[in-house]
Amino acid sequence: MNLSTDRKIQWCPGCGNFGIYNALKSVLEKEIDEGHIKKEDIVLVSGIGCYGYITNYYHLNSFHTIHGRVPPLLTGIKLANPSLIPIGFVGDGDAFAEGMSHTIHVARRNSNVKLILHNNAVYGLTTGQFTPTSPKGFKSRSTPYGNPENPINPITLMLVSQATFVARGFSGDIKHLQYIFSEMMKHRGFAFVEVLQPCVTFNNTYQFYKERVYKLEETNYEPTEFGLALQKSLEWGEKIPTGIFYKKELPTYEDLVLRGEDIFYERSVPDLKDVINEFV
Ligand code: SF4
Repeated sequence: MNLSTDRKIQWCPGCGNFGIYNALKSVLEKEIDEGHIKKEDIVLVSGIGCYGYITNYYHLNSFHTIHGRVPPLLTGIKLANPSLIPIGFVGDGDAFAEGMSHTIHVARRNSNVKLILHNNAVYGLTTGQFTPTSPKGFKSRSTPYGNPENPINPITLMLVSQATFVARGFSGDIKHLQYIFSEMMKHRGFAFVEVLQPCVTFNNTYQFYKERVYKLEETNYEPTEFGLALQKSLEWGEKIPTGIFYKKELPTYEDLVLRGEDIFYERSVPDLKDVINEFV
């Protein structure tokens, strides 16, 4: 199986998007070849940013939506047809500026969807403005004297928003990213993967990350303790952890809404399909 398309890839040479694209491509091709998933069940959704072109480069069903609205698309696709496998791509602007509330809500609902964050800490498509994940003091076109704001920590935010799979990779380590994406595909519930993605043109962080990242799997870290994951998510400086911070299997949003499983409710919830039929 080859999921490449004949579209010319538009990213700058050396852009971290290539690492994310190639790592996910090889994982999906393997999953399809081994019969774990069907090609026609995958639906990709991307928002706005350089990374947003990614859906053009996979020979898969896809939807290119407006800025910040990837998570509601993923949730809607899964609710409409639970056999589909929605995989979303978001940038740091998409996820934490225009789409901040959607990112939190999709996590706390535990929708059975995947969300990959291309975190380059800069708006690359619009030629280099600061974003909510840019470091304090970061000089950009819109912050010539330095960013006065504290950056958002995506891993901490997703943990406290009750995501059930939270991981971080580095686009300069494709083999490790493949491992993380494979685990992401196995997870049943909301899976969030932050990828540290250098923008070679406006925020080239390759060397910075290369010197600092380490893998949690190579320590005695177990991704099952929420408190420990929260503590680990705050580590950022001389050393930056990558790998799976936390994973836990819980009933998904679709379990509760579509099947009406009586787990948290006193009475059965109506079948969403019946509710929709009333209006069509
Ligand atoms: Fe990649 Fe930055 Fe070029 Fe956009 S501007 S394609 S993010 S290197």
